[in-house]
Amino acid sequence: MSHSWPTGLLAADETALRRALADADLPALLPALARLTGDLSLLDDELRPSGDLRLTQGGLSAEDQHTVRELALRALLRYRDAGAPAAEPPGPGQLARMLSFLFGDDKGDYLPLLADELALSGDPGAPDWQWAGTREDATGAPVVAVIGAGMSGLLAAHRLGQAGVPYVVLEKNTDIGGTWLENAYPGCRVDVPSHLYSYSFAADHDWPQHFSAQPEILEYFRGFADRSGVREHIRFGTEVESATWSEAAGSWTLLLRGADGARWELTVRAVISAVGQLNRPSRPRITGADSFRGHLFHSARWDHSVDLAGKRVAVVGTGASALQIVPAIADEVAELAVYQRSAPWLVDTPHYTRELPEGMAWLLRHLPGYGTWYRFWLFCQYVEGSLPYIQADPAWTDTQRSVSALNDRLRELRTRSLLQQAGDDAELAAKVVPDHPPGAKRMLRDDGSWIRTLRQDHVDLVTDRIERFTERGIATASGEREFDVIVYATGFEASRFLTPMTVTGRDGRDLHEHWEGDARAYLGIQIPGFPNFFCLYGPNTNIVVNGSIVFFSECAVHYVLGCLRPLLQDGHHAVDCDRDAHDAFNRRIDEGNAQMAWGAADVDSWYRNSTGRISQNWPFSLLEYWRLTRTPQDSALVLDRQPNPTEKRTI
Ligand code: NAP
Repeated sequence: MSHSWPTGLLAADETALRRALADADLPALLPALARLTGDLSLLDDELRPSGDLRLTQGGLSAEDQHTVRELALRALLRYRDAGAPAAEPPGPGQLARMLSFLFGDDKGDYLPLLADELALSGDPGAPDWQWAGTREDATGAPVVAVIGAGMSGLLAAHRLGQAGVPYVVLEKNTDIGGTWLENAYPGCRVDVPSHLYSYSFAADHDWPQHFSAQPEILEYFRGFADRSGVREHIRFGTEVESATWSEAAGSWTLLLRGADGARWELTVRAVISAVGQLNRPSRPRITGADSFRGHLFHSARWDHSVDLAGKRVAVVGTGASALQIVPAIADEVAELAVYQRSAPWLVDTPHYTRELPEGMAWLLRHLPGYGTWYRFWLFCQYVEGSLPYIQADPAWTDTQRSVSALNDRLRELRTRSLLQQAGDDAELAAKVVPDHPPGAKRMLRDDGSWIRTLRQDHVDLVTDRIERFTERGIATASGEREFDVIVYATGFEASRFLTPMTVTGRDGRDLHEHWEGDARAYLGIQIPGFPNFFCLYGPNTNIVVNGSIVFFSECAVHYVLGCLRPLLQDGHHAVDCDRDAHDAFNRRIDEGNAQMAWGAADVDSWYRNSTGRISQNWPFSLLEYWRLTRTPQDSALVLDRQPNPTEKRTI
C-alpha cells in the first residue's frame, strides 16, 4: 500500500472531510481506516454490513451510517494530525478480522485471495522466476508470441516482461484495446463497476463514473501499455494466419500477414492466444441484406462517417449492445425501430451512467488504501451477490419460467419493475417481459433509459419477425418499412474460438477439426496435443453474473506463467496438458453449467455452441478459479525433456 499520496488528506479541514464522508461508500471505509491506522477497534461489530451483499451501504440504517461517518471522521482527524504515519502491514489475524467485519465469519476461504487483491506484498501476481536465457539470447528474437493486444494480451505481455522473457505481441488492429477498440458505438460502456475493471496491480481508483464509457476504458489500457513498456513490443497490423507445432524443434511457427498482404514466418517456443471471445461479429443471414441501399453496419464496426441526425434508423437485436445504442442515439434520429426477437431481463442500476459523487471521488484519490478496499468490497458483492439467484434447483419443474424459488422471486421482482416502467403502455408492457428464466441469457444493466426510450413517440419496439431486407428497408409480416440506416446489434460468434486462425498441433492435428465446433480446454487454457500453446479467455472462462473478466485473465495469466517456467527456466522441451485432467475438468464444467439457469433451461443463447453445449461460461465461483490457477498441478501437466516420440498413442 502506498503512503505517498496523503497530501490532500493532510491539507483537508474538518468541513472538507465531512463533505467527503457524506458521499463515502461506507462498508469499505472502516476496514480501510483500520488498515491505515492499525486501529482495529474501528471495526465495531454493531456497524457490520448486512449479509445481503446486494444492499446499498451494506444495509446499514441511517443512524448507523451516521455513526460510521463520525467514527471515520475522528479516525481521519487523528491520522491527519499525527502526520499520516504508515501503519505496519496487518498480520493474518488482523486481516481475518477485517475480512470477517465485511463479510461475516464464513468467508475465511477468501483470505489468501484478499491478501493478493490488497497487494500487501507489492505485486503478488508477478512471476517468481526469470527466463534462463539460452540459445535465443544471441539473436534477441522473441521466445513467446502473444496474439492480441487487448486486455488479456497486454497483461500476459507485462508478466512476460517481468520474467525477462523476450516476447512479441501480434495485433491485427492498428492500435491496442481489442474489444474496447472495436466497440466504439454510441453509448458503449462497461457493465462491471469501473473500480473493479482494471488490473489489481495497476488499479485505477480515479474513474469519473461508476461504470465508465468506452473511451475512458480504452485510455486506461493505452496508458497501461505505455507505462508498462509493453507497447514497444507490439507489432500492429499483423494477423496470425496459422500456427504450426514442430515436435523436433519444440517450437511454434506462425504464419503472419501484414496489412499490406505481405506474409512472413515467426518461430517461437510458446504461444499465448489472447484473441478474445466477443470479437467476431455475427451478422444474421437475412434474405436481401445485399439489396438494401442505405447504410448497414454491425455495432462492433460502427460507421462513424454516417450522420444519424434526422435519419430513419433500425436496430436489429436487443442484447447488451442494443441496450446501450438505442438510448444513446434516440434523441438525434427522426425515427427509431428496434427489432426484438427475445426480450432481455434488466438489472436495475440507477447509477449506471452517473458520475461518481464528488466526495467519494475525493476519498478514493486522497485516502490511502480506500480504493483497494472499495475494489475488494465491489469484488465480493459481485462474486457472491447474484450467483445464488441463477443456480438451478434440480427439483424445480417449470424451467421455462424459472429454475428455482430464488430465481422465480427474481423473475417476479424484475417483471414488476418492467411493467411499472412500461406504465399505461399496454402494448409495450406485453413485449418487454422475457419468456426465459432470469440468467438463462445475459441480464443487462439499465438505469431506466431502455423503456423510457422505447416509450418515446418516434421509437418503436417491433416484435414481428424480420422476413427480409428490401432495397429501402425491412419487411415483416406487417409490411415493408423504410430506413436510411440499419444497425446489426446481433452479437458475436462467441463459440468459434480462435477462428479464423489455423492451429496445427502434435501429429499434424488441426485444432478446429479436433474440437469439431465444441471448443474445450483445461482451465480454458490448455488443450492436450497442443503443447506450449495457451489460451486466455478460452472455452468456459466467461463470467456473466459474477465478477470481472479482468480478474479471470489475471488468474489465467498467472497459471500460464507457471506453465512457462519449466519450459523457459528449467529447460524442458514441451509443456502439454494431461488428457485425463482435461476430460475430468470438462465433465465438471458441464455438470456445473447444467445447474445454472443458462444450462438448466432449454434456451438458445450465445453461451451455447452449435452442439448445444455451454462452451462459454464458468459456472463456479471466482475463488475456485483463483485457487485452480495458483500453481500448475503435476497431475495436469505433461512435461517432456525431449521431443515426444510416443505422442501418437496419447492423442
Ligand atoms: P447479444 O447479446 O448476442 O445480442 C444479440 C441480439 O441480436 C439478441 O437480442 C438476439 O436475439 C438478436 N438477434 C440475433 N440474430 C437476430 C436475427 N436474425 N433477427 C433478430 N434479432 C437477432 O449481442 P451483444 O448485445 O452484442 O452482446 C454480446 C455480449 O457482449 C454481451 O452479452 C456482453 O457479454 C458483451 N457486451 C458487453 C457490454 C458491456 O460491458 N456493457 C456491451 C456490449 C456487449 P435473441 O436473444 O433472440 O438471440
